[in-house]
Amino acid sequence: MHQTMSPPLVRRRLRVSGIVQGVGFRPFIYGLATDAHLGGFVGNDTDGVFIEVEGDAAALDQFAADVDALAPPAARVQRVESEEVPATGHTSFGIVASHHAAAGTALVSPDLRTCDACLTELHDPDDRRHAYPFINCTNCGPRFTITERTPYDRPDTTMRPFPMCSRCLAEYEDPADRRFHAQPNACPDCGPVVESVPAASDPIGETCRRVASGEIVAVKGLGGFHLACDAMADAAVGLLRERKGRVDKPFAVMVADLTTARSFAQIDDDEARLLTSRERPIVLLAKRADTNLADAVAPGNGHIGIMLPYTPLHDLLLAPGDVWVMTSGNLAEEPIVTGNDEALDLLSSLADAYLLHNRDIYVPCDDSVVRILDGAEYPIRRSRGYAPFPVPLPFDVAPILATGGELKATFCLAAGRDGFMSQHIGDMENLETLDAFSRAVEHFTELFRIEPETIAADLHPGYLSTKWAERHPLPVVKVQHHHAHIASVMAEHGISEPVIGFSFDGTGYGTDGTVWGGEILVADYERFDRVGHLAPVPLAGGNAAVRHPARMALAHLQAAGIPWSDDLAPVLHYTESERQLIATQIEREIHTVPTTSMGRLFDAAAALSGVRQTASYEAQAAIEFEALVDRSEGCSYDFAITDAGDRIVLEPGPVLRAIVDDLRDGISTGVIAARFHTAVTTMIVAVAERIRSRTGIATVGLSGGVFQNVTVTHAAAIALSEKGFSVLAHRLVPPNDGGLALGQAVIAATRR
Ligand SMILES: [Zn+2]
Ligand SMILES: [Zn+2]
Repeated sequence: MHQTMSPPLVRRRLRVSGIVQGVGFRPFIYGLATDAHLGGFVGNDTDGVFIEVEGDAAALDQFAADVDALAPPAARVQRVESEEVPATGHTSFGIVASHHAAAGTALVSPDLRTCDACLTELHDPDDRRHAYPFINCTNCGPRFTITERTPYDRPDTTMRPFPMCSRCLAEYEDPADRRFHAQPNACPDCGPVVESVPAASDPIGETCRRVASGEIVAVKGLGGFHLACDAMADAAVGLLRERKGRVDKPFAVMVADLTTARSFAQIDDDEARLLTSRERPIVLLAKRADTNLADAVAPGNGHIGIMLPYTPLHDLLLAPGDVWVMTSGNLAEEPIVTGNDEALDLLSSLADAYLLHNRDIYVPCDDSVVRILDGAEYPIRRSRGYAPFPVPLPFDVAPILATGGELKATFCLAAGRDGFMSQHIGDMENLETLDAFSRAVEHFTELFRIEPETIAADLHPGYLSTKWAERHPLPVVKVQHHHAHIASVMAEHGISEPVIGFSFDGTGYGTDGTVWGGEILVADYERFDRVGHLAPVPLAGGNAAVRHPARMALAHLQAAGIPWSDDLAPVLHYTESERQLIATQIEREIHTVPTTSMGRLFDAAAALSGVRQTASYEAQAAIEFEALVDRSEGCSYDFAITDAGDRIVLEPGPVLRAIVDDLRDGISTGVIAARFHTAVTTMIVAVAERIRSRTGIATVGLSGGVFQNVTVTHAAAIALSEKGFSVLAHRLVPPNDGGLALGQAVIAATRR
């Protein structure tokens, strides 16, 4: 008989980075270590979580594997680094105080939807937080929107004015409790409260009554105010449109549960997963034909944006079966309103009543908008629930700030391998939005302790974001718009080799000073070749052209040599003298600029097909055109693809002539829409093959706002794959200008 020697003790120091603070990470580590009878300690610092564990080597290996594999639901582990240190013989395990060092970039968690455990308590009449609209724990609740600075501790959040009562404090200090170090922990005795204006004893019940009776209520949420009304009531939705001055642009709705959502939208398994995900974005879903939703919610649109409740307040407001419009509480194009006084002032012309609360919103953050494309997430607006979690970069970058574009503005603050994309800021066309942009940049630089050494900006001299960059003393690197789009989709996929990029959008400033938008590039991060583009047509009135698809149609008809005859809808839209004026303008190039915009070609085709002649928001005609596509149609129109020197030019003339012929033959708009969409897809594949045969490049990137059109994106991705191409579509940032800053950052970092 012999006795087994106990294996020698080993001690390791682990650093865990990612979202590991305020998500129940230390109690989780405490539990792992004590279960395995390991000695040591765990604590927070500005870089994340530090751990020392002591035990035998096999147990420590298992421990390190479990740290990543079993992490709590709200945690996102980016890296675990480990080094050996001398053993001390300590056998107990403890949680030690936070270290506040000067440097470091602990990640800040996005806001998290209410967890199931908290929801159970919320609806339990015996629970002390029954019906308490601010219930939360380490697995859920507000994060980014209440965080003023890091490390993430209660005094650095807008929960500062609410000292915890003894019962909340006991939970907060107990490592075994779900609320251990939950910074926003609160209860009815010590936490924030709701109030209604006009005052009522039951503010939540009062809000429900008002909405049910057709009123519009401004509801303070997580990242700002919503304007809420009954989405089943035509009159209420109409009133909201009238007061907001928002003619047709779709409203998103909130419903209590999936069952209610299914009553008016088609929802597959991937979409259901996204609707109920912890990010809880607005999900764009196909509308059911038999819906009794008010028509005015998303007129002319085949899709409807739906979200499920993400705060306990929403859960208390919406009962199963309720469908509420929940649109950002703001004036026209200004940023979302966050403060109580601001709301009472600015929203007074929009709302009949208010549901307020006294927890301040430090960071304005709009709802995210996401759809499913081929089984995976396809972001349209990356904001609440996603920001400020970083996008991983394909290579190390020196600290840089990329200021993005103009519409759907976001910026990217990057250093090392982290690209911190901001929340959605809005359309940078007014000073209020520019101020919001400046404040957000300041907040990000403080939060992540990144001092940019370079600023990247769009080439457009008129963009407010470019002017903002130029006012700074740092070196500014200008990046061409469509190159940035392609670089952003490359960066997401970690691709550094040159790709064939289809950069299709409404407008972007070209290196020749004209308006680009139908661009085919061979690009890497360093440079791009404009190997092809749509044939230019004269664009009248610059950005105002967005509102006038009929004008774009006339310009395209003219360029294609198709007479403006009276049977064509865009021609009929204008009087004889207006037509004369437009013709002169085009011929003499007065107040026009050449454009290769693909977005405007979609508008023109939609107008020509009779879909609509004026638009009240960008791409409205194109969106309605897509909604009409007859999915059973198999034919296509054809672009003329010509070589002009070493450049490929896409002539839409044959497509437009075919549309006119089909119109005269009485072919339905749905069939025409289908043939047009297929023409774009077919052209993409043909052009990609032509470029592959010259360059050998077999990777294709699809980016730019036109690819929000999933009919085109889906069909192009499939057809390209069938031809042996590897296809890059956006999965982390939007294809529209909301994703531009990521591309600017990697291009400028490469050029430096
Ligand atoms: Zn919870
Ligand atoms: Zn309390």
